[in-house]
Amino acid sequence: MSVYEDFNLTKDFDKDYCLQVFAPLDVAFIKGKGSYLYDQSGRKYLDMIGGIAVNSLGHNHPALTSALKKQVSELIHCSNYYYIPQRSSLAYKLCRYSFADKCFFSNSGAEANEAAIKLARGYFYYKGEDRYEIITAKMSFHGRTMGTIAATGQEKFRKPFEPNLPGFKYVTYNNFDELEEAVTPNTAAVMLELIQGESGVHPADREYIKNVRKLCNEKGILLIIDEVQTGIGRTGRLFCYENYGITPDIMSLAKGLGGGVPIGATLCTAKVASGFKVGDHGTTFGGNPLACTAGNVVMDQFIDKDLLSTVNKTSSLLFAELQNLKNKYSTIASVRGMGLLIGIEFTPGISASLLRERLLSEGVLVSAIGTSTIRIAPPLNLSDADAKVFIKKLTKILKDQKKRPLSETAAYGSTALEPVKREDHIEKELEE
Ligand SMILES: *Cc1c(COP(=O)(O)O)cnc(C)c1O
Repeated sequence: MSVYEDFNLTKDFDKDYCLQVFAPLDVAFIKGKGSYLYDQSGRKYLDMIGGIAVNSLGHNHPALTSALKKQVSELIHCSNYYYIPQRSSLAYKLCRYSFADKCFFSNSGAEANEAAIKLARGYFYYKGEDRYEIITAKMSFHGRTMGTIAATGQEKFRKPFEPNLPGFKYVTYNNFDELEEAVTPNTAAVMLELIQGESGVHPADREYIKNVRKLCNEKGILLIIDEVQTGIGRTGRLFCYENYGITPDIMSLAKGLGGGVPIGATLCTAKVASGFKVGDHGTTFGGNPLACTAGNVVMDQFIDKDLLSTVNKTSSLLFAELQNLKNKYSTIASVRGMGLLIGIEFTPGISASLLRERLLSEGVLVSAIGTSTIRIAPPLNLSDADAKVFIKKLTKILKDQKKRPLSETAAYGSTALEPVKREDHIEKELEE
């Protein structure tokens, strides 16, 4: 048996040869279709996390798969030494449907934010102004590179890698006075997420963002909005800033843009574009024909197929059902988010990672953030029927709470957490 078929070999090789930074759940997927993933034994799982807001069209979407197959057989990569039609086309679409005038492509969210940070500093450099400081929010997340951990307002991501890149200041999210006080004559930019995704799905207040925009205008400070997670339809608008009635000066995108193919993008206004001259920034892979083909297909689903109305319909259904559950079960403390980026916070004592495992054993994938919040970011084309499957499975687990408590301490008891019996599920699958 090869490592592709034998789960134990997959695990052993991972433990032996991969740097152990991830602590994965006890499962490997080899196939996907629509909103479902299939493991090596053939069991199917409802994918309510979509590769962390990445698989925006679900798995094996016919339009995406066929466009990629065609592109692979024609040209995968050729370098930015040359013009690339797919890149020109995607840049046009992103600018046409956003505030932006110009766009730079990279391969990930961290890279998109690196470019945003460099662009902000370059802008003031060429203006001859001594501005380099960037104010970001506590509990933010902007990536894992040396520049983006410096931007990230959580010490745990930075501490082992000091000295960090200087010039960053962290202020309490949704506290305008604190942000205003942090501004100095050297402030170049304010960099924010509109929904803090990685730290628990916390949306920014509308008033706060309006005030930040106003302050930036008054002081000539650039507003960088990190839409790596919230962009590309995730929140019910093509870009989350549209929910706030403002526009940024710079915006970063990544996760959902390629529908699973790695791509990042940094967008900006014509004014800010002067921050990069020829040779100031670059990339080997960014903007390649394959990744831009994926980006074009995803954008076309919004432009031609009205994917946003599906997002909003499914979102209303999920929020209504979750609110219902919250009214029934006092262990749900709050339901937050927008569109199809939703955080469900449980009361202290309920373990999010235990709940995630319970859902996994029910064949549902979610992520656990912090100690007691689970996050869902399913494919944007999730069907109503599948949204209801999720609610049904979650309800079942909540109903079972008395018998099988969801607190971490209970998990150490002998009966609380039953292991997944893989064979049972295969049988069930066959029966279906
Ligand atoms: C995921 C994420 C990033 C980092 O993206 P990578 O592709 O993992 O580098 C940056 N910012 C936000 C808001 C994110 O959610």
